Amino acid sequence: MASSRKRLFNVIALAKGLAVTFSFMFRKKPTIQYPSVKKQHAPRFHGLHELRRYSDGKERCIGCELCSSACPANAITVVGAENAPADRRSPGERYAARYEIDELRCIFCGMCEEACPTDAIVLTPRFEMADYRRGAFIYAKDRLLVPPEAGVGRPPDERPGGIPEDLGRVADIKATMDIAAGYSATNRGEILKTQRKGLAG
Ligand code: SF4
Ligand code: SF4
Repeated sequence: MASSRKRLFNVIALAKGLAVTFSFMFRKKPTIQYPSVKKQHAPRFHGLHELRRYSDGKERCIGCELCSSACPANAITVVGAENAPADRRSPGERYAARYEIDELRCIFCGMCEEACPTDAIVLTPRFEMADYRRGAFIYAKDRLLVPPEAGVGRPPDERPGGIPEDLGRVADIKATMDIAAGYSATNRGEILKTQRKGLAG
């Protein structure tokens, strides 16, 4: 008698377990077919950095080293230099002759973005940075700086008071809850929107 009760108990337990399994067959799957479908991150996601420009192509970075001082991981190297009158790289007196970020040291805290007085360095939604060599994770200006045609905002030397036209615009756009609009805050974000075959929310 005890043995048949035990058998019945086991069958009921098995049926309950199968019912849970079958109930999940009709639910929306949380997994996605990466890399053909990619996860879309929140607009404030902290991924690979980029250095921005103004609409006239000048670099926003003035080589002030504030980002480097604020970085808790000591991941940023900035070497500033004086702008030559015949070849002005930035609207300020100085520009970053050398700018490097060691993405292996970086903890993606966003302090550099917060510290920058010209909205030059920003973190983008790009998270795919895998590589085979440690050296490949040191991003210099050739990989950080956006192309001249991707510059935005009137430069401060064309404006009264020397204030960049769109200071704080990136932070405003990233603050949106609209994921697609938030990607437009950065150039890499815009590129990701066009490259992705599919997006999973
Ligand atoms: S995100 Fe943080 S850790 Fe990374 S470079 Fe910027 S300040 Fe440094
Ligand atoms: S990125 Fe911004 S904070 Fe860093 S050196 Fe350039 S202007 Fe200064």
